[in-house]
Amino acid sequence: MVSSCIFCRIVAREIPAKIVLETELAMAFEDIHPQAPVHCLVIPKSHIESLRDATSSDAPLLGEILDLARRVAEAKGASAGGYRILSNIGTDGGQEVPHLHFHVLGGRRLGAKLVRDDR
Ligand code: AMP
Ligand code: ZN
Repeated sequence: MVSSCIFCRIVAREIPAKIVLETELAMAFEDIHPQAPVHCLVIPKSHIESLRDATSSDAPLLGEILDLARRVAEAKGASAGGYRILSNIGTDGGQEVPHLHFHVLGGRRLGAKLVRDDR
């Protein structure tokens, strides 16, 4: 746990979040500034800064995260209509929170815009 990291603090229950689902290694919660009717974040409980910092030994963890993202879309009712999973990496990728996270966006027809275009 990195005590200065907001998502580590959500995992530690030091900062409140609307948790949707969790597994041993991963957690899903509602994005605080939703960009679509369904907008959740799926994160590893351990601190990895971004996909750039993951290694092949993280493959089981990444699989668990993507499986959880799929289950989140189903649980939120976005599965049948289709949805988008994306992960911003580093400064040029538009990453604001330096703890790996996958956005799960859906519940309406998404445009070509990326998640941060309108901010
Ligand atoms: P990114 O720009 O890809 O790093 O996305 C960070 C996301 O985290 C943004 O969509 C924020 O709205 C979201 N966010 C930041 N702080 C919180 C928080 N305390 N709880 C839930 N979502 C948050
Ligand atoms: Zn962290």
